[in-house]
Amino acid sequence: MNVFLTFDYELFFGSASGTVQKCLIEPTNRLLDLSRKYHVPMTFFVDIGYIIALERQLNDFSILKMDYDMVIDQIQEMIVAGCDVQLHIHPHWEKTHFDGEKWQFVTKNAYKLADFEAEERERIIRIYKSKLDSIIGRKTHTFRAGGWCIQPFNQLEKLFQELEIKYDSSVFPRGHFEAGEYSFDFRNAPTKDQYRFQNDVCTENENGFFTEFPIGSYRYSPLFYWRLYILGRLNPAAHKMIGDGIFMSQPGRKKQVLTHFTWNHASTDGYYASKMAKITEIAFKKRQQNLVFIGHPKSCTQYSLNLLNRYLAKYNSRCKFTHFQLNS
Ligand SMILES: [Zn+2]
Repeated sequence: MNVFLTFDYELFFGSASGTVQKCLIEPTNRLLDLSRKYHVPMTFFVDIGYIIALERQLNDFSILKMDYDMVIDQIQEMIVAGCDVQLHIHPHWEKTHFDGEKWQFVTKNAYKLADFEAEERERIIRIYKSKLDSIIGRKTHTFRAGGWCIQPFNQLEKLFQELEIKYDSSVFPRGHFEAGEYSFDFRNAPTKDQYRFQNDVCTENENGFFTEFPIGSYRYSPLFYWRLYILGRLNPAAHKMIGDGIFMSQPGRKKQVLTHFTWNHASTDGYYASKMAKITEIAFKKRQQNLVFIGHPKSCTQYSLNLLNRYLAKYNSRCKFTHFQLNS
């Protein structure tokens, strides 16, 4: 079974972005240490809008120049470590500016590609992709939508095909969330670990140009989330995120997960890492060809990094760890 360990390389988008050192550099270094230790390739979906926003203002603020240099150096380090770098788009960076102290995020009606007019959307995608391609010195071909908001895909279909963005990993089957700036609905997505599609990410089309590698999904119990929230308070040294920012709000989400079973990602983040082995065993039983985990450097905890270490020691010989560049 192919296992893809994927990480969205980004800051927080709430009232505090957090620092580059804590949200990106430090936790990513820990992940790269694991990648090298076990010779396991990882995929980093780089939030390229952030880098473009840094470039816009780095001549005005020396701290942004330092942040920029650290991020660009680390992306080169990912490549040297044998990891994959692919395209992650958060278009709200278009409306966001640095005020000398912090990033002032504007996410209202600007969080999703679908929030923009067609012409503007096309400009963003072209510029973001070509910028990331030039940083890494090769063409990206795999996409993950910011906040998983890839719908409606028919708005992206033609341009993605032209730019040869042929793989996507934004869908997690059975997931849906419609609140605040979020909007995605994968309840009708095929429950397969790989499928082709054309104009709708949730409709399989054997002749489609695109291939979906869905993020693994798992049905989490309310108890899981009670534990998650309580452990963070009881043992912050183990369970506090390394990232020092604040998440963008997900209205109603906390109440929903504490009271209902919910489908959510197979993830390496924080307490979610406790389910990685179980999710992997289920995938073996179902004879899956692929299993995609999603994580974020910013959401790594001491606990999750320890578990990831144990996971890699256990499954390194039983799974084929891979990334999209190797797989193409
Ligand atoms: Zn993201």
